[in-house]
Amino acid sequence: MEKLIDLHIHSTASDGSLSPEDVVAYAKGKGAAAISLTDHDTVEGLEAALSAGKTQGLEVIPGLEISAQHPGGSMHILGYYIDPSDPNLNQELRRLQKARRERNPKIINKLQSLGFPIDYDQVQAIAKGQIGRPHIAQALLKIKAVSSLEEAFQKYLTRGAPAYEEKFRFSPSESISMIIQAGGIPVLAHPFTLNYPSLRDLKRLVEKLKDDGLKGLEVLYPEHSSDQTRDYFSLVKELNLIYTGGSDFHGDLKNNVDLLSGKGDLKIPYCIVEVLKDLRAKGQSQ
Ligand SMILES: [Zn+2]
Ligand SMILES: [Zn+2]
Repeated sequence: MEKLIDLHIHSTASDGSLSPEDVVAYAKGKGAAAISLTDHDTVEGLEAALSAGKTQGLEVIPGLEISAQHPGGSMHILGYYIDPSDPNLNQELRRLQKARRERNPKIINKLQSLGFPIDYDQVQAIAKGQIGRPHIAQALLKIKAVSSLEEAFQKYLTRGAPAYEEKFRFSPSESISMIIQAGGIPVLAHPFTLNYPSLRDLKRLVEKLKDDGLKGLEVLYPEHSSDQTRDYFSLVKELNLIYTGGSDFHGDLKNNVDLLSGKGDLKIPYCIVEVLKDLRAKGQSQ
């Protein structure tokens, strides 16, 4: 049987619905050969995930996903094999978490002034850990203000929508160097969310990120069309980067995507882990 992996997974440490331990158990049950836990702007779930990996016999790669500044779209940068105890990384992440915490009450205030009877405590009760917009979307669904989580985002929570609120983010190059300094390998997540009009424009951006230390692109991703996947593979080849893949599993907070199989046809080969390990070994010997 082919060894399959998933290198993009969220837990309750950010906005997923399963605890880090449960993510590991779920992945193990699905037959994953390796996973990476990549919570938003935090390494808080990693210790639990790594130790659950050891006891349950599943290879767990420490990871995270940093939201970087990017006007006009969203830029997420994954970091693999970061040291979760790196003091500099932890200090920088605390700044991001503070920004995230301050942002949620503002979003909820905006929704209240739009007439929705939701409050912070309700949203906190839905989130088992860090609150994020998916929990606010669930609160809207619960009071039947919307009929789906997607609708909640589209109508109210996405950038440009009436309850959207900007937050502090690091620049792409700052995010990349945070990851490198913590011993990690930076990879651009789901390139389609950058909303670049053409592959040429995307190439220019990725070249710049590569100068900053970017090592790869997340090419295999449930939302990528076959054209996009082909384009990103060609970009990776042209720029001598690596490719990775992941489902972006959030548990039942994003219920059309499953761990490992995405929307059903995702297949991420284990050889990617070997490439990451090679890169890591090279980085350490420099
Ligand atoms: Zn992302
Ligand atoms: Zn993600």
